[in-house]
Amino acid sequence: MQNEKEIGLKTDIKSLYPEELAEKLGEMGEPKFRASQVFGWLWKGVTSFDEMKNVPKALRERLGEEFFITHPAVLRKQESRLDGTVKYLWELADGNAVETVVMRYNHGNTVCVSSQVGCRMGCAFCASTIGGRVRSLAPSEILDQVMFSELESGLKISNIVMMGIGEPLDNFENVIRFLRLVNDPNGLNIGMRHISLSTCGLTEGIDKLAEYNLQLTLSVSLHAPDDETRTRIMPVNRAYGVQKLMAACRRYYEKTGRRISFEYAMIDGVNDTPEHAERLAGLIGGMGAHVNLIPLNEVEESPLKPSTPEHLKAFIALLEKRGVNVTVRRKLGPDINASCGQLRRKREKEKSLQSG
Ligand code: SAH
Repeated sequence: MQNEKEIGLKTDIKSLYPEELAEKLGEMGEPKFRASQVFGWLWKGVTSFDEMKNVPKALRERLGEEFFITHPAVLRKQESRLDGTVKYLWELADGNAVETVVMRYNHGNTVCVSSQVGCRMGCAFCASTIGGRVRSLAPSEILDQVMFSELESGLKISNIVMMGIGEPLDNFENVIRFLRLVNDPNGLNIGMRHISLSTCGLTEGIDKLAEYNLQLTLSVSLHAPDDETRTRIMPVNRAYGVQKLMAACRRYYEKTGRRISFEYAMIDGVNDTPEHAERLAGLIGGMGAHVNLIPLNEVEESPLKPSTPEHLKAFIALLEKRGVNVTVRRKLGPDINASCGQLRRKREKEKSLQSG
């Protein structure tokens, strides 16, 4: 584990854009090519400046005085015997933990990253929000999840989904920085069209994101088509409401030309009736949107249950009849409880048992 106090005085080098690093090195009197050398090493996953073999020793020492290199440590690794899904629980420099999942699809390996330690959005069905939000992640700490998952698993990552622990739009600036860094041709060079960002629906954030006009896929966790149902399971709905959220989604679609994907966790007796399906179809019409139904993953602390297969089937049939483009999310890693937030939650519980 890195020394937190020492880190406080130094600059987080992996959160800098290449041009910012070049500027800092220029101020230190270094030639231009040094920045790309250092940047290259960082993307190889070095954890100390000493490993940067083609950088002169004196400079390596100075770099170590000015900057620090983040690197997570594997606390736990679980691998599904059924489909090869790998889940990591990482320990960060300050002792906090976040989860990352690597999923293997035919179209390439996809990594699901966390954007915060915990979450303050309070969704009733979600394990990540139970202990609230501890802090947001730095751009480097989000990037590390992609880099070190790739290094650790040996699997080449081609897609990223921001669907792990945390609300990405509640950590806006750092998430934008992460997206630009991971997209950098000299870095991992992952195209925006290979990246999805999922939000519980912070409308100011959606509007701000539209301004950047990134070609990523925006997923919106809708989970209910009316205020009464949505507020019951997503407290964030009190602040925005379904109509306001849909208006922001329409603006986003108009501005970026990118179709939105709506996530809808099917919860028994809560949001899965034929009326809900009808309302949902009415709500999202006319924007080429896609609905991704998620069979609810049961969370120990929550009484909510997944919809029955019959209700799920009827819901799909109704949406299809109304011309809605609908898919059902395949459950990956069922033997390792791969849905996010659960592994970190388990560690938190163990820690409190030990100290109590
Ligand atoms: N904060 C973001 C991203 C994190 S969660 C968001 O809200 O979109 C990624 C997706 O998983 C969201 O759609 C979320 O609502 C959903 N989710 C969370 N807990 C779940 C559970 N127990 N079962 C099914 N889906 C869940």
